[in-house]
Order: sequence, then structure tokens, then C-alpha cells
Amino acid sequence: MPHSLRFAIPRARRAKAVLLAPAVSVCLIAASAPSPAVPLGIGDRLFPTLGNPGYDVGSYDLSFTYPGSNSRPLNAVTTILARATERLERVNLDFAHGTVESVDVNGAPAAFARTGEDLVITPDAPLPKGSTLRITVRHTSDPAPMKDKDGGWVRTADGLAMANQADAAHLVFPCNDHPSDKAMFTIHVTTPEGYTAVANGLPVGSEQGATTWSYRTVHPMATELAQVSIGRSAVLHRQGPNGLPIRDVVPAKDREALQPWLKKTSDHVAWMENKVGPYPFETYGVLIAQAQTGYELETQTLSLFERDLFTAAYPKWYVESIMVHELSHQWFGDSVTPRTWSDLWLNEGHATWYEALYAEETAHRPMEERMKAAYGLSDDWRATGGPPAAPKGPKPGQKISIFRPNVYDGAALVLYALRQEIGRPAFERLERAWVGVHRDGTATTAGFERLASDFAGRDLSKFFRAWLYGEKTPPMPGHPDWKSAAGRPGAAG
Ligand SMILES: [Zn+2]
Repeated sequence: MPHSLRFAIPRARRAKAVLLAPAVSVCLIAASAPSPAVPLGIGDRLFPTLGNPGYDVGSYDLSFTYPGSNSRPLNAVTTILARATERLERVNLDFAHGTVESVDVNGAPAAFARTGEDLVITPDAPLPKGSTLRITVRHTSDPAPMKDKDGGWVRTADGLAMANQADAAHLVFPCNDHPSDKAMFTIHVTTPEGYTAVANGLPVGSEQGATTWSYRTVHPMATELAQVSIGRSAVLHRQGPNGLPIRDVVPAKDREALQPWLKKTSDHVAWMENKVGPYPFETYGVLIAQAQTGYELETQTLSLFERDLFTAAYPKWYVESIMVHELSHQWFGDSVTPRTWSDLWLNEGHATWYEALYAEETAHRPMEERMKAAYGLSDDWRATGGPPAAPKGPKPGQKISIFRPNVYDGAALVLYALRQEIGRPAFERLERAWVGVHRDGTATTAGFERLASDFAGRDLSKFFRAWLYGEKTPPMPGHPDWKSAAGRPGAAG
């Protein structure tokens, strides 16, 4: 949970450097004068103003009141418990899409200002390093799409769902919106009668006859993985492997039609556990929403799917492999979270890997064929999106454009090359160890390289440098005949 030292030097530490320098009486005065409220970030290469320095969030308590229409703002109260990791004159939160009515810090009203996508809070007195902060923000949360921004609330046919990846949780609630700062979540939703609300984690208290629905996570979670479903929903419970509670949330009118798909989750969980070890959370299930998102999303303990995936005439093996993709993210991306967005390949490369492996083992779709095709396109993908571990930034106004083929099949290709290089037994042991060692934490590309070297019994840094950071795709170990299709007439663009 603590921020990595590689990030931007915190504001207070810079001020101290000024104080220590000789003959700087003028600067000393400047340093002690109030600085303007400016948007801050933790220096993520792809999203420089995402997240904030100076504190570490322990928990969020979110309360939403749904007005019965998905085009009107929800009233909300967000309470954040955090620890100051430096002396703070101000606290920046990320928040961009709602009004702010009031802010309290440790029970006392605090001044606040909006700047960029930050809510800048100035408490009465500076907060000492190491102190506990309890910040309460009364605000609205606007479900209308924000201009030039993807994600946040998703409007469904009968209510709302959430899709915050990569940088949109702060369109819904004030937060430290970076996956490096995971925290516990408690989520309350008050609805008019006839609606059902479900969120990450397990119910707190009774669900029966409630109009306020409460859920709490048992494991820490990144803000990008928060989920709140509000709708005219059916909640279906069943038991998965080793007693795992499986909870699906679907439009009430579709519950019978969707049953054949919902029944498959238990086998998917058993298959994944066989590959990488125990399922990492307290519950799992699919949230099927009647909405046009254009993607599925691995929100923690409750993955979001478009209803069309199940009702359009896709091949059965394809739908199941997508279900396994989102399920495998519960290990790769949710339990083990990327430290920075440049580590995204660790999420998508692994999810694509298990998606393809499931299709190979259950539907006779050979991994080798898929990887050979990916090899042919990999140079093009690197040219367009950057190498897998140094992806190019998002296009302006299209933050989710970092989700390019270079981090999906392009990154699964790196895992295939690794398996070719170190052999299947070492590769399989590495995968289990990776999700075991980093369970509930954050992890880096360098950490994966080190662990892989440990399991290979030799230094793989040269191998990874070429495969993860090279402009061109290196030769595939064991398949010297594989060629890039780039530049050939008719090569895919
Ligand atoms: Zn994915």
C-alpha cells in the first residue's frame, strides 16, 4: 500500500530542502507562504496527475442514495481513513464529476477548492506526519457521461453499474485514484423500493427487505476495481469449489435465460484453482448488465459483463473463454495489482494467457496457433502501442486507449516465450508463486522478472529486456521459423 519511492518527491520534502539550503532567506519566506491549490499526482508515467502524494488510504466508506433515475445525480457521503506519510498542509483527493457540499477533516470543517481533477482540502492546522486522517466529503455523484472521459458510472437499461478502469473512480467518488494505494471498502446504497443494490464484497447485515444495502470487502481493493450495481436485478446464489459463495447479479427478467451461463462459473473457478492455486477472495460472481460498454471488466469479486455477450450468437467456447479471462483477473490484476499503469501487461497478458489456455484445453483451440498468429502481428502492435511493458500513453480524451493489443495477445506472447525459454514445469511453478507471494498487494514488472529468474535458476534480465521493452519482437525460442508479418502486403494494420 505505501507509495513507491520512485514517485515524485512530495511537496513538504521539497520545502524542507529549501530550508536546509544556505543563504535562502527570500526562498524561506516564499516556502512558508501559502502555495496555490494545484492538482497533484504520484508521477505515473501514463497518468501523471492520478493519485496523490503524502498519505496512504486505509479504508473508504461510501454511501450513495439512488434517486430512482439514472440520469440524475446521486447524493453521496465518502469517508476516508488515511495515514499521513508526511506533514500535510493540504490534502489532495482525485474527484472530477459531482458537486462538493462540505468537507470535514477529523471532525472539523475544512476549506476546499476544485482544481483540475483534484479536490484540494485545507484543514485548520497542518496534519503531522504519521497522524490519522478521517476525511468526510458530502457530495453528489453524477451518472451522466463526462465530456472527453471514459468510465465511471455506466447507465444500464434499469439502473447503474460501474466501470472505473483505468482512471475513472474519481468520476464517482473522491479518492486516491491509483492502484498503488489499495484500501478496504464499505459501500452502502439506499434505493427506492423495487431496486436491488450489490457491491464488492459480502453483505453486512441482512439483505432481506432492505432499502439500504451494505457490503464490505474482506481484502484490500484498488479504486479502479470498485463495483456498485443498482437495478431491477435478481441475485442468484450458488456454491463453488471448497464452499466459495458464488453470487451472480442479472436483470430479473433474464434470470432463467442466463442460467446455463451462470452455472459454468463454478467449473471455471475449479479450473483456475488447478492452474494457479486458491481463489483469492471471499466471493465471486458475474454482473450482467444491459448496457453498451464495449468491454467486460474484472471488478473485484463481481466482474461486469455486457448482456449482449450472452444473448448474441457468439460461439460457446468464445463466451466461456471471456468469462475465464475476467475470472483470472481476480488473481492477476485484482489480488495482485499493478504498481503503475505501465505494469498493465501483467494484468492483461495473464488474463489473455488463461483465456487462451482454457480454449486450448476445453475447446481444441491450440495455444501455439494463437501465439504464432500473435507473433506475426507483434511488431505492428509494438509500433502502434509501444512494447508491452513500456506502452504508449493514452490518446487525449480516450484514456482506455492504453488497452491495446500490445498488452493483450502481445503480452501473452511474452508469457509464451517465457514458457518456451524456461520450460513448462518452471513456468507453472512461477505462476503459482507470483499470485501467492503478492496476494492482496501491488507488484511490478521488475518483481516478475526477479521471481522468474529465481524459478529458472538463472538471470533472465536480458530475455525480459528484449521481450518487454524491445521495439522489435525477438526470435521465439523453439520456433526459429516464426516471422513477423509486418511490412508484408496485406499485413494487418
Ligand atoms: Zn482483461
